[in-house]
Amino acid sequence: MKHIRNFCIIAHIDHGKSTLADRLIQACGGVTQRDFHDQMLDSMDIERERGITIKSNTVTLAYKTADGQEYLLNLIDTPGHVDFSHEVRRSLMACEGALIVVDASQGVEAQTVANLYLALEYDLTLLPVINKIDLPAADVDRVREEIDSDLGLDPFAAIPVSAKTGVGIDKVLAGIVDHLPPPKGDPNAPLKALVFDAHFDKFRGVILQCRVMEGTLKPRDVIHFMHSDHDYKVDELGYNQFKLVPKPQLSAGEVGYIVAGVKSVQDIEIGDTITLLDNPASEPIPGYQEAKQVVFSSVYPMSTDEYPDLAKALDKLAINDAALTYEKDSSAALGFGFRCGFLGLLHLDVVQERLQREFNLGLVISAPSVQYCLTLKDESTLNVDNPSNWPDPSNIESATEPYIKATIIIPEEFVGPVMELCREHRSESQTMNYLTADRVEITSEMPLGEVLFEFYGKLKMITRGYGSFDYTPIEYRPTDVVKVDILVNKEPVDAFSYLVHRDKARTRALHYCEQLAEAIPRHQFKIPIQGAIGGSIIARATIQPYRKDVTAKLYGGDVTRKKKLLEKQKKGKAKMKQFGSVNIPQEAFVSVLRAE
Ligand code: GDP
Ligand code: MG
Repeated sequence: MKHIRNFCIIAHIDHGKSTLADRLIQACGGVTQRDFHDQMLDSMDIERERGITIKSNTVTLAYKTADGQEYLLNLIDTPGHVDFSHEVRRSLMACEGALIVVDASQGVEAQTVANLYLALEYDLTLLPVINKIDLPAADVDRVREEIDSDLGLDPFAAIPVSAKTGVGIDKVLAGIVDHLPPPKGDPNAPLKALVFDAHFDKFRGVILQCRVMEGTLKPRDVIHFMHSDHDYKVDELGYNQFKLVPKPQLSAGEVGYIVAGVKSVQDIEIGDTITLLDNPASEPIPGYQEAKQVVFSSVYPMSTDEYPDLAKALDKLAINDAALTYEKDSSAALGFGFRCGFLGLLHLDVVQERLQREFNLGLVISAPSVQYCLTLKDESTLNVDNPSNWPDPSNIESATEPYIKATIIIPEEFVGPVMELCREHRSESQTMNYLTADRVEITSEMPLGEVLFEFYGKLKMITRGYGSFDYTPIEYRPTDVVKVDILVNKEPVDAFSYLVHRDKARTRALHYCEQLAEAIPRHQFKIPIQGAIGGSIIARATIQPYRKDVTAKLYGGDVTRKKKLLEKQKKGKAKMKQFGSVNIPQEAFVSVLRAE
């Protein structure tokens, strides 16, 4: 156990976590040059393209020090985005130490700080790494100061590297061995193993990633999941070395995989503790938290006959995404679909993109919503995230909505506009903290629902890309929420309904009305588009009438051309949805419902 190190790399997005991981893997000869590709640990196409890690991966590296001592380094990859912070937590629980990577040209950012706090919660030993020192804009001394002032870590312990050129990588490896502590644990105690990740393999079923805390596990042992209360028999276990390398056992301090006949990741709980059925531990590992969906949205196929395909695609995604929830939903406007629960906006984006790209589905996605908690007049409570389940307002006694603590780090010059942006998004308090002379950290308590609509985009615009943003959920607080309907020619179109604070109802209704007025083609009569709370109209736009005669511009008697045009017009109609006497093109749903 003395010669094991379990560590992860934490960093703000883009500071070079994946690249550093690649270099460490190469330096340890983890893969042959021929098998190497960039971003070894980022497995999905979307991850590589967007440069974010969604699904964490783990690898065991064999490292030999200068004096010939061999070590096993377990690099546990963590997702780099706030949406997946509960996954970050589980990964941290499997480690004794962490490399905290800071970009030498950008300095410490919001996610660096947020991740640092998480790591400290789990008592990890931290080793700062200053990356990208090859860049002309690199300012190692300034970043050392920030490591001291913003992170409270020893600035002289920080190792300057370039993950791009490989400079300093040997020092990082030596630092891991010298500064990060070895794991503790008794290999003879009753088994306690933390499941920190799992993925589905079509040949082997679910492959669990585990950190053994206490005890020893062998093939053919019957394991018991302490939270979900399921039992499985271990078929195989071993190390992750870019392929699964079977071992005769995994014992305290080790990290490895387990194959045990689990069919879907939905059958297990990540973060659960595995023990032995016939010699169980008395208590699970503390700190277990269930993944919590906080953003909800309905997903419909663009054409109704693709509904079975959408259902199949979601089933497939869920096998590998324990955090995704979905249940049947239906809309008068869009037919059958699914109400889905996500960990946050990025999770929604990723699922949506995978459905479209990997499964080739055209989708309409309703405006994302948080979950409101209602107390009704009869004193019962009701959780609602779907506007179609909204009760009659006269039955509602009171409502609460989820709040977050947002951390925003920006150059000093943007403080005014960013504070203003927070207030526009119903921030209840903002505190300001100078990190350095020209960098400010703003913390703001605000409703989660407010960052779902036009917040990220505006923040990026205001700060010209220099603002960084992170958040943690805090609590539910009282709110005055209403349901707004959008009426097209006096008919409500349910897919456009949304739940919002009363103060924000009108601006958003106006936004939808105006967008719709542009997206719906003219008809032969005037079409009012209205936003309404119950019976009262709060916003309005109008589509002026238009006489549409596609053949009018054809002179003479070219019958075939005329026919072709009429045919085309008919086809165009097929892609429309009929609402009363109004046709709404499918694209209108897509363009209007796009959140930013
Ligand atoms: P992650 O989001 O933290 O995983 O960051 P990545 O490893 O994906 O790196 C983000 C970007 O920075 C990529 O374009 C990398 O090629 C680049 N990058 C990473 N390390 C270095 C470095 O040491 N020097 C330079 N110049 N670029 C780097
Ligand atoms: Mg990455």
